[in-house]
Amino acid sequence: MIYWIRLEMKKIIETINNHKRFLLISHENPDGDAVGSVLGLHFGLKNLNKISFPVLPDPVPKIYSFLIGSDEIQTDFEIDDIEVAIILDCADIGRVENLKRKITKIPKKVNIDHHPSNFSFGEINYINSKSSSTSEIVLKLLRRLNVKIDKKIADALYTGLMTDTGGFRFANTNLNTFKSATYLVKMGADPFYISEMVYSMKPLKALKLLGRALEKLKKENGVIYSILTLDDFKEFEAEEEDAEGVVEYLNKSNEVNIAILFKQKSNGFYKVSLRSKGDIDVKDIAIKFGGGGHMNAAGFDVKGDPLTVLNEIIRELKK
Ligand code: 5GP
Ligand code: MN
Repeated sequence: MIYWIRLEMKKIIETINNHKRFLLISHENPDGDAVGSVLGLHFGLKNLNKISFPVLPDPVPKIYSFLIGSDEIQTDFEIDDIEVAIILDCADIGRVENLKRKITKIPKKVNIDHHPSNFSFGEINYINSKSSSTSEIVLKLLRRLNVKIDKKIADALYTGLMTDTGGFRFANTNLNTFKSATYLVKMGADPFYISEMVYSMKPLKALKLLGRALEKLKKENGVIYSILTLDDFKEFEAEEEDAEGVVEYLNKSNEVNIAILFKQKSNGFYKVSLRSKGDIDVKDIAIKFGGGGHMNAAGFDVKGDPLTVLNEIIRELKK
């Protein structure tokens, strides 16, 4: 395992050194790690005089627009511009949504991720589930490439580290996370500024949506759950990104070890977010429903009645 993963890192370094034009892409409904790892690598490659195209299938959520370069991120790309696609933080190539067909046509795909549920869909696959975040892996890669980590790279990667560990609180927070964070702060990342921007600059509609989710929460069979419908989103003129962090709130209860949030999307599907405490694994449940994630944080998209899905989840949990 250790040998294999080192070999993949070596292959990535060779690929970057031997090519000029890169697509950098991460998942739909991007989180801090998706934005941070794309931007960190984008500026790192620029410092190596490479040409890189940072892309996300959905626009950058407003809470991450403070990051320098976030306005350079596009939602599409020209396939002729690209020699190598680097796919970041995506356990499943399907998570790039409508760009999947185009990316599949690129002959060299480098898959960099920290989700244990990753399908290894690339020609090169660096999957390290011991890393707190994809941003932490990107830092390791840039240091191996001898890239100078400047302030904008440090801020981007720190944002990914901080958000994927829930502010250095989740079970994926370890010695290496702090070592990486220390290095990033040394190179100019500003921890207070970043945490203020991410955690203390929410629009009022996001707080109202959180209030609605808490108001509607129910406890059943050892699970806390809440359902945010399209009507809830419409009432507050809120979008999917405004629900970020809501499921973490549900998981604060001392009465349950599992929290579930259903978010109705405009395409008729529900996005289901699962959170657990301790050694309860929600990743395997998410995989059964076609999704993925980590032991304590996972998710999937599903069509159908949320209460029926809830009962199916509870049945799986009892197994
Ligand atoms: P969230 O609930 O915050 O959207 O996602 C929690 C974790 O589950 C993240 O690590 C995310 O990548 C993963 N995840 C969420 N939804 C999906 C999905 O539809 N497919 C896969 N493969 N992973 C997902
Ligand atoms: Mn991540």
